[in-house]
Amino acid sequence: MNTVDAVVVGAGFSGLYLSHRLTEEGFSVRGFEAGGDVGGTWYWNRYPGARCDIESVQYSFQFSPELQQEWTWSERYASQPELLAYIEHVADRFDLRRHFTFDTRIDRARFDDVSHRWVVETSGGETIGARFLLLGVGVLSTTLTPDFVDLDRYRGRTFHTGRWPHEPVDFGGKRVGVIGTGSSGIQSIPILAEQAEQLHVFQRTPNYVVPAHNRPLEPDEVAAVKADYDGLRAQAWARPTGFLFPFNPGSIHDVDADERRARLDRQWEIGGLPFLGAFGDVLTDLEANRMVADYWAERVREVVDDPAVADLLIPDGDIFGGKRLCAGTGYYETYNRDNVTLVDVSGAGIERFTPNGLVAGGRKYELDAIVFATGFDALTGSVVAIDLAGPDGTTMADRWSNGTDTLLGLSVSGFPNLFNLQGPGSPGVFVTMVTGIEHQTDWIVDCLAWMRSRDLTRCEATAEAEQRWVAEVANAATRSLRPTVDSWYSGANVAGKHRGFMPYIGGFPAYRQACHDVAANNYRGYVFG
Ligand code: NAP
Repeated sequence: MNTVDAVVVGAGFSGLYLSHRLTEEGFSVRGFEAGGDVGGTWYWNRYPGARCDIESVQYSFQFSPELQQEWTWSERYASQPELLAYIEHVADRFDLRRHFTFDTRIDRARFDDVSHRWVVETSGGETIGARFLLLGVGVLSTTLTPDFVDLDRYRGRTFHTGRWPHEPVDFGGKRVGVIGTGSSGIQSIPILAEQAEQLHVFQRTPNYVVPAHNRPLEPDEVAAVKADYDGLRAQAWARPTGFLFPFNPGSIHDVDADERRARLDRQWEIGGLPFLGAFGDVLTDLEANRMVADYWAERVREVVDDPAVADLLIPDGDIFGGKRLCAGTGYYETYNRDNVTLVDVSGAGIERFTPNGLVAGGRKYELDAIVFATGFDALTGSVVAIDLAGPDGTTMADRWSNGTDTLLGLSVSGFPNLFNLQGPGSPGVFVTMVTGIEHQTDWIVDCLAWMRSRDLTRCEATAEAEQRWVAEVANAATRSLRPTVDSWYSGANVAGKHRGFMPYIGGFPAYRQACHDVAANNYRGYVFG
């Protein structure tokens, strides 16, 4: 059996940076990636309209000043092709593909408590010994297609936004259905409406969508960022989200109606996720949240021609931003098109599929193609998909079946020498991903180097330290309205999944401090052997 210092799973942002840092530090690495190439999320999510909702100049690596200077983003919010080109550029520039075996999954991993190594089995039939098992498997990568009645009888083409084909798909002259109106649905619907002859959108729950106001980046804007990239990054690191945007910490209750309106207008013009930064209490105070939702509804009604359609598109009292806020381009305008029909499936839902389409609300819809924008088994799905067991034989699937306990989101007691990036207990999904990944990777690699310098071969989070972090994660959750909402953050979108708010919502600076405190105290909360 070949042995390496670390097996890295996934060749998205996490796996690539892990492989880079580890090999720079002199650790031997084997990486495995289920996809055919690098890219992770941006390899799989090729659906029309896919783009990031964090400004591209910040949704990018910062570990290399040279990389920052030589890469030039063309749009405020990069499209999937540009993001994938960037990731491929990173892989080429730092020669990272050589660490990875593609089209290969990790099926099984067992920890051998004698050699202090993971024995890792791949779908390619290889068995590898690894001192450390490092998971960069993605938090939104295990796709969900609901168990619709008679789906197997449907004869048209089906697509999932999270597994979009690599070859172009021609929807010209086709009757297309989209199921799902989360971020993936709302990004793809306007483009599909332009391509298809008829588009039916099957909506179970309306979402809050704010205009992204995407646009090309002007050369002088890019030059200004590059002139002081470090300054931008430093300011971003000090923010709870790890990225910089205009944010007003003041309360909505402290201003009069005119000032409130003016500020909401200003933030609306900025667009996208920063709209949540109009006031400091949007996500903490119910009344503030309702005022913002009312403003938002007014803006949507200005766009949608048919008031009955607008009624369907406007959530009925849901927490604004409770589910991930969606940033769209021409989303509500799309419902003014003659070839687009919004179908409310909030009642009986989609009843069944037929060979030629589906039945909803007692009505038959004939569809040539159906796009499932139905989301992911978030945060845990891709970890528990691996048959992963610690020394006592407990699998991660069992361990997390009643709650996703972790230490710092990185480690799980009973699973030595294993680190998981951006999963439950991490702030990842509330912090811009790439920044969070770089921070966690640096922390992990520093820990491994610290162990090596002391000839230590085994590290494990203690159950006590884990429980303290679980309490901290729960405590942070009490300060936000988000955990009061059923969403993928709490596992509510997956039938039978344990319900509990999984991410750490205490902010990036507090998280970094917690990680720093552990490391500065000889990795307090871990036992070493
Ligand atoms: P999602 O937010 O989980 O949305 C899934 C959609 O499918 C929801 O509208 C859901 O309705 C619907 N659905 C699920 N089961 C259904 C059923 N049986 N019948 C009818 N409708 C059903 O998934 P997503 O849109 O893929 O987004 C997931 C996350 O990925 C986002 O929140 C975001 O963090 C990330 N993402 C980001 C971007 C970006 O950066 N721009 C783009 C795409 C995705 P209900 O609400 O009723 O459950």
